[in-house]
Amino acid sequence: MKKTAVDIAIIGAGPSGLFMVFEAGFLGYRCAVIDALPQTGGQLTELYPEKPIYDIPGHPEILAGDLIKKLEQQAAPFAPTYLLGAPVQTLEKTEDGFILETRNAQVTAKVVIIAGGNGMFTPRKPALENLDAFEETSLFYAVRDKEPFRNQEVAIAGGGDSAADWAVELASIARHVHVVHRRADFRAAEATVNKMRALVKEEKMTLHTQTQLHGLQGENGQLNSLTIADMDGKLTTLHASRLLCCFGLAPNPGPFASWGLKLDGKQIATDPITQKTNIDGILAIGDMARYEGKMGLILVGFAEAALAAKTAQSLIDPDKKFRLQYSTGHKPGT
Ligand SMILES: Cc1cc2nc3c(=O)[nH]c(=O)nc-3n(C[C@H](O)[C@H](O)[C@H](O)COP(=O)(O)OP(=O)(O)OC[C@H]3O[C@@H](n4cnc5c(N)ncnc54)[C@H](O)[C@@H]3O)c2cc1C
Repeated sequence: MKKTAVDIAIIGAGPSGLFMVFEAGFLGYRCAVIDALPQTGGQLTELYPEKPIYDIPGHPEILAGDLIKKLEQQAAPFAPTYLLGAPVQTLEKTEDGFILETRNAQVTAKVVIIAGGNGMFTPRKPALENLDAFEETSLFYAVRDKEPFRNQEVAIAGGGDSAADWAVELASIARHVHVVHRRADFRAAEATVNKMRALVKEEKMTLHTQTQLHGLQGENGQLNSLTIADMDGKLTTLHASRLLCCFGLAPNPGPFASWGLKLDGKQIATDPITQKTNIDGILAIGDMARYEGKMGLILVGFAEAALAAKTAQSLIDPDKKFRLQYSTGHKPGT
């Protein structure tokens, strides 16, 4: 298990968490940023990386993905430790701070700042009984590595961009790709759907439209076949050794309530001046922080990061007087 000791542990690598690294670093504090997703950027990277944003001060128009790249650049001089791809599962209060654990990392920190947005994104799963028997061996919800699909009979369930993009991509290495979609039309980009139709003509792909997953068969975690049902309930068996389900992502509030944090709806009740929660040493910023009049906007999360940095200093160095510093003339990392 990777062990890291920092001043501040930030849960969530969305825009608020990334800018938190800058604000904390500016005051001299080192951060670890932990995210359940395998990449930084939160909603911006996961949900709308190619969309332009028009209400970031100083950027009349910027793509969401580009904003995240710039926030990473801005945080880089403060050398944050990024621990991505695993959610924070446990938090333990110690005499002088906290210990947080993911499935493969442990972080010791004096202050914890939760920038968890709307919670963790978790894949929407089909309503089938024996999913867990095959998950991560032959049933996947995302492609982190293409190798498990090489020379396999691959079934892809879904009809959006993600399903169509992966169907085209994996067709180049799979023995055959079956696409199972419950509607007649695909919601994916027209160009990608045209590529799928071309692959059908080349007999590298079969489209099973107006059908849905009905059952999985196999043993020892190895999928052998799956059953699909058409709209009349007629069942067909497909030979498939890999199944990729692309049904999108749903936010999951995660473990925060079980840590004793006071919630306001699904968010954490937070003081708008200090960003303090009901637990001493834990602050919240961004979409996850809730108070009267809260606006769930990126720029609000940025301002909350500045407020949280000030509060973090009062907790980590209580004898140090806070002095507002302008960044002008203080090039980060020099
Ligand atoms: C389609 C769309 C368009 C939008 N357009 C705009 C716009 O134009 N302007 C604007 O200001 N806002 C816009 N928003 C809203 C904006 O995206 C959010 O306000 C912003 O993403 C909040 O940032 P955040 O860092 O607080 O949280 P998020 O971006 O949600 O990031 C939170 C991160 O925390 C992680 N996380 C949560 N729990 C855990 C855990 N237990 N362990 C590890 N990681 C965890 C999540 O995986 C996630 O990556 C838009 C939103 C959407 C969906």
